[in-house]
Amino acid sequence: MRLCRVADQCLWSDQGNFCEALENAAVPLDGKWPLLILYLRGVKDLPFLSEVQKTSMQQLLLEVLRDKDFSDDNFQRAQNSFYGVITQPLVSKIEEITRETSGLAKDMTELFGKHRAQVAGAAESVETGLSTGLDPVTLLSGLRDTLKGVVSKMERDVAYLEGLSQKDSLTGLANRRMFDNFLDAAVERWISDKEPVSLIMFDIDHFKKFNDAYGHLVGDEVLRAMADRIKKIVAPLDDGEGNILPARYGGEEFAVIMRRGVAERAVVIAEVIRKTIQRTTVTVRDSKDNIVRSGLRITVSVGVASICPHWQVLHQSNLIDSADRALYHAKNSGRNKTVRFAPEDSSGYLPVSFE
Ligand code: GH3
Ligand code: MG
Ligand code: MG
Repeated sequence: MRLCRVADQCLWSDQGNFCEALENAAVPLDGKWPLLILYLRGVKDLPFLSEVQKTSMQQLLLEVLRDKDFSDDNFQRAQNSFYGVITQPLVSKIEEITRETSGLAKDMTELFGKHRAQVAGAAESVETGLSTGLDPVTLLSGLRDTLKGVVSKMERDVAYLEGLSQKDSLTGLANRRMFDNFLDAAVERWISDKEPVSLIMFDIDHFKKFNDAYGHLVGDEVLRAMADRIKKIVAPLDDGEGNILPARYGGEEFAVIMRRGVAERAVVIAEVIRKTIQRTTVTVRDSKDNIVRSGLRITVSVGVASICPHWQVLHQSNLIDSADRALYHAKNSGRNKTVRFAPEDSSGYLPVSFE
């Protein structure tokens, strides 16, 4: 009952009385259900969740309230569904970040370890030289040359590590950090020079089922294969001056940011990528090159959006949100489809089709 009162005062105030709402829906007030319902209701306000995740959770909430099955078994089912839609993707993201960070830390330790040994060696030879009466000026000049060499190697290593820190370790595509930086720069150019910016977002269809059927490692191979296809399609469009960036947005979601002329061809590029992925079959081999699986296929749903002249602020989040919503429409209209954000149309989103 205390939870009800807190919810009424703080969280549910815009929806009338929380306790009354639960009573009307015949929800047992003293168990764990009110907490779950309160949480499911709040999910729509969490900015880090996608439209698809929010809608799934709203559907779950409606099902709970409609079915009025407040048994422990049904609670377990609701929890499993929550885990699959919200928790599991977050766990995957954390695992991915941990993998990347520990890989970087290992590379850094190796690289800087080599330099430490070189500097220590140089210091030691100066000491030995001094104790055996060698000319200090010659020794010092040798030490200076060694340190200069180490500094220039370290500068190269820092540049190398910077490159690594912007790449997704599984697919070699730009990671989320680089995606954000690139989008910030593109938005700046939109604001200063009105250079068009478009964004394509891809999400693999039913990838959870795919992983469940073939295993996570085979799933990883598919992510690599998909990234390779995207790289190959995008490479000829790259003018070498930062007009296009394919990235792994996170988990099983990919993105392509486009600037200038190529941004105007975003829907065509999106369809080329979608159809190429649909046609692609993936073969998985073991370490001895034996074929483990062949003929595997996946499809993707695609959302496309461009920066709108009437957006005054928050261009980045408006663009991502519009592409994400378009993607959500593509999922809802049967998957393996491209939908574009269409501010000129009353529906706001239109399916794309080229035959
Ligand atoms: P939908 O068509 O609605 O997008 O269904 P879905 O199953 O693809 O979507 P959902 O968000 O339910 O599940 C995403 C799945 O993607 C679950 C997660 O295990 C998988 N995934 C995310 N990152 C990775 C990864 O790095 N490797 C593998 N193998 N799977 C991943
Ligand atoms: Mg997804
Ligand atoms: Mg998916």
